[in-house]
Amino acid sequence: MPHLDMRQFKCLEDNYGLIIHDSVTGATAAIDAPDADAVERELKKFGRQLTHIFTTHHHADHVQGNLQLKEHFGCKIFGPKAEADRIPGIDQTYSGGEKFMWSNREIEVIDCPGHTLGHIAFHIPSEFSLFAGDTLFSVGCGRVIEGTLEQMFHSVNQFKSISPHTYVYVGHEYTKANCKFALTLEPNNKKLQARANEVDKLLAEGRMTCPVVLGDELKVNPYLRCDSLEIRATLSMETATDAEVFAEIRTRKNNFKG
Ligand code: ZN
Ligand code: FE
Repeated sequence: MPHLDMRQFKCLEDNYGLIIHDSVTGATAAIDAPDADAVERELKKFGRQLTHIFTTHHHADHVQGNLQLKEHFGCKIFGPKAEADRIPGIDQTYSGGEKFMWSNREIEVIDCPGHTLGHIAFHIPSEFSLFAGDTLFSVGCGRVIEGTLEQMFHSVNQFKSISPHTYVYVGHEYTKANCKFALTLEPNNKKLQARANEVDKLLAEGRMTCPVVLGDELKVNPYLRCDSLEIRATLSMETATDAEVFAEIRTRKNNFKG
């Protein structure tokens, strides 16, 4: 079975749109719908008809394209059960631990409370792909808006049990600012320095910094590195739990003036 074709594009201010397509069945899904016109432009480029939208959470910059796309394509919208009443046009709801078949592939739904309470991620193990929404970013993680820092810690941490070969698709292009902050915590992390340089170069060339490979992200993303001795020394939290370190990092980021 050939791999899914993944087309990622920038839209709105700093959102990523993503369209995944199975050339065998023709099934075509948008991961979130930040901007219906941008999604339609991208579909048109490759001559595709949208059959599904997978919604990660209820924020406007992830669902505001739903109704226009549904009207134009009659696509089915899948999204989080816990936020069903806030997802326009939703047809089918899922919660963490559930699996469903899409275009002959099994998709696992992962609960990721924190950014919003009902936030879910979609994982396609056979495709080594994770659609993390606003839970994980490259070298960062989502702002904790509805849940607790403890919930967000568990949401992010559970991604460590996914294959490190997995491509992680995220909701926003925030990588440059994230690198700047991460370097204040772990200035001697060579992989992080290299990532920061790579990101500058990619952005200067007008390219995107994502998706990322999970195994690479584990080496540079402070929220996945709460056991790092250097981070702990920077924070003077040598004996704290990983969850406490996570909470401190996330809180500092909120107050960080880059
Ligand atoms: Zn959001
Ligand atoms: Fe967002």
